[in-house]
This record gives sequence, structure tokens and C-alpha cells, in this order.
Amino acid sequence: MSAVTPERAIALLQDLIALPSVNPRFSDPDDLKGEGRVAAFLAERLSDLDFVVQPPTAAAGGNLIARFGEEGAALKMSFEAHLDTVGVSGMEIEPFRAEIRDGRIFGRGACDCKGPLASLLAALEAADLRPLRDAGIAIEVVGAVREESGNEGAEELARSGYRTDWLMVLEPTGLDVVHAHKGAFWFRVELRGQAAHGSAPEAGLSAIDGMLDLITAMRQHTSRAARLLEDSVLGPPTLNIGVIRGGDALNVVAPLCTIEADRRTLPAEDMGELEREILDLLAEMKQAGKIRAGRLEIIRRRPAFQGRPDVRLSRALLDACRRTGHPARTVGAAWYSDAGVLAPCAGQTVVFGPGSISDAHTARESIAVEQLLAGTVILRRFIEDLPRTLRSAEC
Ligand SMILES: [Zn+2]
Repeated sequence: MSAVTPERAIALLQDLIALPSVNPRFSDPDDLKGEGRVAAFLAERLSDLDFVVQPPTAAAGGNLIARFGEEGAALKMSFEAHLDTVGVSGMEIEPFRAEIRDGRIFGRGACDCKGPLASLLAALEAADLRPLRDAGIAIEVVGAVREESGNEGAEELARSGYRTDWLMVLEPTGLDVVHAHKGAFWFRVELRGQAAHGSAPEAGLSAIDGMLDLITAMRQHTSRAARLLEDSVLGPPTLNIGVIRGGDALNVVAPLCTIEADRRTLPAEDMGELEREILDLLAEMKQAGKIRAGRLEIIRRRPAFQGRPDVRLSRALLDACRRTGHPARTVGAAWYSDAGVLAPCAGQTVVFGPGSISDAHTARESIAVEQLLAGTVILRRFIEDLPRTLRSAEC
């Protein structure tokens, strides 16, 4: 058990990177797609550690679930990591070779999310798990599919009635303990105006002018939400207009304009409310004769995650950081993860893992070896301390 060194994490990560698991919804070659290879690898490693591996079922969304310990344990501690990666087109490194250079391991998924998963596997291999079972603790590993296309695997798991006591969603947090993150509301708006000769704009209805008004109004709504919902951990909600298309020619009044926008939400915001606000604006603009028609299409709704920094799970993880000589910080994050979807299924939830989110999805994705090893050491300590954590929670 203890003979396994943290360096094992490097070998495990190299094995994981070598197994392509591009999200099936990306337009990469078919032979690179699907989580099956990584799921099989994970199942084999966990079986070796006496985990009972449930075969991926349609009911659980095709996610892999493996458990060490009793079903009705006093504490079920679940670790969740997504098994898919984004695509590899445009990458400036060899995506599956897992080269080590300058203290970093390069490859698709190196930090998102195979690095954190390798840290967990290495920690489980190194830890002595028997005292956990004796203490009535079950460890569960969930390998979730299709995260990068919108948390699909996690959503199906939540719909299947999944429950756990404590949940750690593994993501590259730079070893900070993330106890809250924003949500994402992605949408498309199409405005229709009326074409006319460019020399007589009053004879038409410019969809571009309409869109400028709409964007201004949406910005005002976002600023008002920022003032009303001041969130010292997550900061203000944001609005980014990532795409705008409109008009046919410079001497024609634009009959059509479309935007695609990314509104990052706070936990206190209701996405249904955001949708109604935009629909109300469109109705007002139509009523005022500024547009002929407006259409809203929701592309994605991903819930924010609001945990607390002072719950037992967060404190135990912070304690494991401190006891292994690493900085212990709780933070909020602007990105979203499976935690937004799965937190309602768990008593307590945190997001944690080695690697930097700024390296995720990049053309030269990598993780610092030092982060990977630190993650392994912290997770091992956290796992081995669980009986003590449980005892102190009871008194
Ligand atoms: Zn991820």
C-alpha cells in the first residue's frame, strides 16, 4: 500500500492521456471519440483495489460508478471526475503522447480532467483503505461522461435519483477548495427588421439598431443584478456578447441581426427570470415599433453552485492541505462544473484538484508535475484521515 510513491500519479496520467476520450459531440475523427477506453482503464484499476465496479448503465447515464465499502455505510464519500475531453483539432502538441518537458506533462486532458483523476487514483492506490471500511465509510468513484458538451452525464445521474453524503468534484482548481461557482446561461437572439435603401433608413427598420438597444438594456439589467446581489466570493454576474451577425450590405438597412451571448450567473439568480426579462424586452421593442419580430433561443442553462466554506467536508480537505504543507484556501470560481448539477444530490460538495483551469482546453494543454504530485499527497491524506474526520463529526 504505502510502497506506492506519489510518482505513480505521473505514470497513471500518462496512461490516461494515451487513451483518447474526446467528447462524442465534437467533430473529431470517430476513433478518438467516446469515454469507453478511459472507463475501462478506470474500472480495471479500481477493481484491483477491491472496488465493486457497476457496469455503466443507461439508467445512470452511462457513467461509471465504483464503490469500496458497504452500500449502507455511515458516510459515503464520492469523488467525481469527467472522463471526456474537448477535441484535439488545432492542438500545437501531440495530444496523446503525454510528453514531460520543463516539469510539465503535455496532452489533451492533462489538466482537464485526467490530471485530477490520476491524482485520485494514485492516492487511492497509496492509501490504506481497510480502516475506512472498518469505520463504516464507503468510498465511491464516479466517472462521468459527456461533461464538455454540457454536463450531460451528470444530469442523467442526477435524474436517476443519485445520492451521496459528501461529494468532491475533481477539476483543476490549482489545489484551492472551490465552494461556489457561477452558472452559465447561453442564448441566441434573432431580431427581424425591415430592409430599405441605405439613403432612406426611415423607410426601413434596422435590426442592427434594434440589437444595439437590446444589448444596452441587457447590460443595464446585468449591472442592476450586480448591485442588488453583491457577492463577495464570486464577484458580479457578467454578460459577454460572443457573436454578432447582421446586415447584408452597407447601403441596405439591415433586415436581420443575431447575437449569441454568455451570461454568467450568481447562485441567487433565477434563470427563468433571466429568460422572462429578455422576452419582455423583445415584446416591448416590438410594441414600440423598433423591430418586426424577436426570437430567443436558450442554448445552455447550467446551474451555479453554492456550497459553504465552513462545512465539515471543506474543513477536512483544508486540514489535509495544511497537514501536507500546502496552502489551504477556499475560493469561488467564475467557471462552472458538474458540481452545479450534482450538489443537490449530496449533503456537502466541494470542487478540488491539481492543475490550472487556464491550461484547460488550450492548444498546449499541460499540468505541472509538482501540482499533480501535491494533489496526490493531499488526497491521500484526506482519504486516510476520513475515519478521524467522521469521529470528530460525531462528537
Ligand atoms: Zn473539466
